[in-house]
Amino acid sequence: MDLRLRGDDRNKMDKQNLLEKIVALCKRRGFIYPGSEIYGGLSNSWDYGPVGVELKNNIKQLWWKKFVQLREDIVGLDAALIMNPKVWEASGHLANFSDPLIECKKCHTRFRPIIDLNPHAKAQGVKVSAEGHKCPNCNSTELMEPKQFNLMFKTFIGPAEESANIAYFRPETAQAIFADFKNILDTTRVRIPFGVAQIGKAFRNEITPGNFIFRMREFEQMEIEYFIAPPKDDKEWQSAFEKWRVGVLSWILDDLGIDKSKIHEDEVPDEDRAHYSKRTIDFMYEFPFGKEELYGLAYRTDFDLKNHGNSSGKNLKYRDPESGEEYWPHVIEPSFGVDRTFLAVLLDSYTEEGNRVYLKLHPKLAPYKAAVFPLLANKPELIDLAKKIYIDLKQNLHVCWDERGNIGKRYAAQDEIGTPYCVTADFQSLEDSTVTVRDRDSAKQIRVKISELQNYILDQISK
Ligand code: ATP
Repeated sequence: MDLRLRGDDRNKMDKQNLLEKIVALCKRRGFIYPGSEIYGGLSNSWDYGPVGVELKNNIKQLWWKKFVQLREDIVGLDAALIMNPKVWEASGHLANFSDPLIECKKCHTRFRPIIDLNPHAKAQGVKVSAEGHKCPNCNSTELMEPKQFNLMFKTFIGPAEESANIAYFRPETAQAIFADFKNILDTTRVRIPFGVAQIGKAFRNEITPGNFIFRMREFEQMEIEYFIAPPKDDKEWQSAFEKWRVGVLSWILDDLGIDKSKIHEDEVPDEDRAHYSKRTIDFMYEFPFGKEELYGLAYRTDFDLKNHGNSSGKNLKYRDPESGEEYWPHVIEPSFGVDRTFLAVLLDSYTEEGNRVYLKLHPKLAPYKAAVFPLLANKPELIDLAKKIYIDLKQNLHVCWDERGNIGKRYAAQDEIGTPYCVTADFQSLEDSTVTVRDRDSAKQIRVKISELQNYILDQISK
């Protein structure tokens, strides 16, 4: 028997290894821990640790800067997680936001039918049957026909658990933007075309969560609803859509610095699109477990505002200030998952060179821009000088301090969290007021004057 691995098997194994390595690195260095670990964990819950929260915040801040701060046509919102349940009735989530589940008649295990391997099937509520399936728990083929299982998390408002008090955790951030549309129009100077951006948690009772932080029950989204006038022809909405397609790509490639060859744009075919969407593109990333959705971009027509206008009885139409014409704006929605961004960024930046492992993170994303060490931890004059440098840098840069172990171990630790520069105060520093600055990617060291250090680092990281 030939025991050598064939090319694609090796490839598969390497990819699986890569995910395992990332999960281990995340735990080891404080990016991500299993949630509630001391109590045995909780299925599919993850906590972002001290370094993870920095990277996650950097992703969100960079996104906000690009899509809100640097634009004149987009404003922000931070709405409540639990909204009036009528929102979910009007949006169609109560009726349609569900996945089909098959129940085993013998052991009552519930599982997802194979059809759901098609990521778009649930948007269409595609009819599936139990035929041809086997219970993953007991292998029985005696199965009930699939039933729809709503993915929204239910809760109760107030102390009484009565149906009148039922509420839901939002399964997406987008709907609050429609619900607040009139308030935003009345209180700001926005004029069509304009967008509203929001970053926040969303909750979905996913049936098959997994692949680390790829599919979670509690996750974060960054969404924009971009409102345009009702298009006179297809060309009009297509050109607005195209601008957003380019915008999403520029975020992925220019801001996150993700390898272009790993990104694919999948045009979602008519039969797989949600009924209200006239066009959807899924931006896919080559994750180690397959090519999967990173972000979505959809043209949702005037579906949402019309529904909320009709259901709430409020006038959610936009009145053109010049012509006086009233209409329901149409909307283009780019939707970004924060956690999937985090995972793609980690996978993309993970680099092994010989024995060395480092994260080639863009300095804008790196949890710390520099680390400062005294060469030796038992020499007060080195510690004093290094501490002074550290405190000075801290005023303008997010830097960290380390005096544990030897210098090699400190470099290795900083490499694994993607710190672009390590600054060491050594004996020469006491004489000539210079320090060693080591570059993460090349591992090369140069000497920089302490008085020029901050500008040097600021210069390097802004390149
Ligand atoms: P999928 O097909 O993978 O279930 P979706 O099409 O349901 O995703 P959307 O409803 O379009 O996803 O949500 C927008 C974005 O939110 C996704 O592109 C993804 O980045 C993120 N997202 C959605 N569901 C999850 C989840 N369970 N865990 C983490 N991120 C998610």
